Amino acid sequence: MVRSALERLIEADASNEPDEPPLADVANSSAQDLTYRDDNKETPGAPDPELPARLNTQRYAAVLEELVACGAKSVLDLGCGEGRLLRDLVKNSQFERIVGMDVSYKSLEIARKRLRFDAFDERQRARVDLLHGSLIYKDRRLQGFDAAAVVEVIEHLEPNRLESLAKVLFTQACPKHVVLTTPNKEYNSVWESLPAGQFRHADHRFEWTRAEFQAWGNRIAALYGYRVEYKGIGSEDPDRGTPTQLGVFHRD
Ligand code: SAH
Repeated sequence: MVRSALERLIEADASNEPDEPPLADVANSSAQDLTYRDDNKETPGAPDPELPARLNTQRYAAVLEELVACGAKSVLDLGCGEGRLLRDLVKNSQFERIVGMDVSYKSLEIARKRLRFDAFDERQRARVDLLHGSLIYKDRRLQGFDAAAVVEVIEHLEPNRLESLAKVLFTQACPKHVVLTTPNKEYNSVWESLPAGQFRHADHRFEWTRAEFQAWGNRIAALYGYRVEYKGIGSEDPDRGTPTQLGVFHRD
């Protein structure tokens, strides 16, 4: 009964959490198809259709680098979406156990195809798993991992659900390392095609400045016994920082 009630709750939650558009659409979507004001370019303000793709690539590379550096052998990709990071994780033999989880069944189906999951041999099947679930509900399947990546996920949750996510992540799953990214709102004004005050993506419920992200991260780290360091991803503006901000939490 508990399981079926939970499944119903997860389904209800899924319908409230619109899916991230497929990657191809992300590159073409109006909010992401940003014009980049970069003084080093010959034509400042000229549309740079490659920018969202480039930032995505830099983001996955930075997250992967952190996961490799912390020596993790088992990794969770929470809010894995369509499996872009999972694809990189699968290619790296450091990772002996890889589990992606998402609330969107549709995204998981795409991830499954991308990873060619159905063609996996027995060894790969034992190594990689995709789970349907929501990060705001306790889930025993998330226990016992060395590290978790939470890439561009928190801003898709209503702010009042962040406490539940933090509790599930840092007390129930409690991996030794958490690599978490979120947009840096301060950087939005660098993109001239993004009207002032608008979020980067229609499904974002909030976007944080560096001070806001660090205030949240410091509070969560102190509350749950982690140490946290912050880094930037993407090209740096002297006043506004980088487009993506990264928090790496360690439980020593
Ligand atoms: N991490 C992926 C996808 C980011 S988009 C990447 O970087 O490519 C945000 C993802 O978070 C979506 O796939 C969305 O379905 C998922 N998500 C939103 N709320 C969630 C929740 N409560 N539990 C699990 N996943 C969630």
